[in-house]
Amino acid sequence: MRVGEVWHGAADLVLGARCAGCGRPGLGACAACTAAVRGSPPLLVAGLPDALPVVYAGGAYTGELRRLLLAAKERNGLGLVPLLGERLAAAVAAWALEEGSGLTVVLVPVPTAPAQVIARGVDLTAALARVAARRLRRAGLPVRTWAGLRLCRRPQDQSELGRSGRLANLVGAFTVARALPMGQVVVVDDIVTTGATLREAVRACVADGRLPAAGATVAATARTGTRRGAR
Ligand SMILES: [Zn+2]
Repeated sequence: MRVGEVWHGAADLVLGARCAGCGRPGLGACAACTAAVRGSPPLLVAGLPDALPVVYAGGAYTGELRRLLLAAKERNGLGLVPLLGERLAAAVAAWALEEGSGLTVVLVPVPTAPAQVIARGVDLTAALARVAARRLRRAGLPVRTWAGLRLCRRPQDQSELGRSGRLANLVGAFTVARALPMGQVVVVDDIVTTGATLREAVRACVADGRLPAAGATVAATARTGTRRGAR
């Protein structure tokens, strides 16, 4: 048995810790789930509202990626942030390869309700953006984060709303709290479903005089495609 396996076994015994992707004993994500998530190719997301720029995702919202993202959102899975942030970095890199200009990329996380930040102990989207920016800088890309979007009113819970309901629910919910830095703005979120949240983030940036170049997320639900122009 390798040393790492001993530690994972001990984590199960002492902490009751299990991989959030498959339930095997261990801390964070196990090697198999990590490999599965890393092996998922980034996607150009199709079928989003016309008001959005191109949106890339680090993978489809299925299997291990879905389970790990859910765990990070619902069970305070801070240990999963590095792996999930890596997928966000892959999405940004996929966009930059296709149409980046070489200017500094400014990752703008969508704002999280303060109550949710308190409940999770972390602003998950902002933390994912910071991890992604660090990884991309290590790869030599000029990337920074700017967490300057704020909620200016509280939207109702989106889970019961359809697509048009979500779009209407969010309009005017975000505002730019201070001047956006120079560079290519990429709005980021953990997941894209209807595109309503990203669209509101884009609207807030545009209202401040800046048109985002892209959106990027860790994962995307249905209607994903890899072809450019498929949107
Ligand atoms: Zn696993």
